[in-house]
Amino acid sequence: MNGKKRVLSECPGLGCISICTCGSVHVKIGPVELTLEAGAFAQSALMFRHALEAMEADQQTARAGSILTH
Ligand SMILES: [Zn+2]
Repeated sequence: MNGKKRVLSECPGLGCISICTCGSVHVKIGPVELTLEAGAFAQSALMFRHALEAMEADQQTARAGSILTH
């Protein structure tokens, strides 16, 4: 946890993701910081993406009402 960090991605006002010499990925969102093993981080990234896709699909369904467009 006390190793050097390299910032991989950052979103001003939200948080940042950095990789640490301890081998873990530190995900900081507001006051919360998650420390994830690299593999767990990769899975989390996919999980976030799938959640976003599911959310977008829900919004599209809501807009289209009950009409199936495809
Ligand atoms: Zn660390």
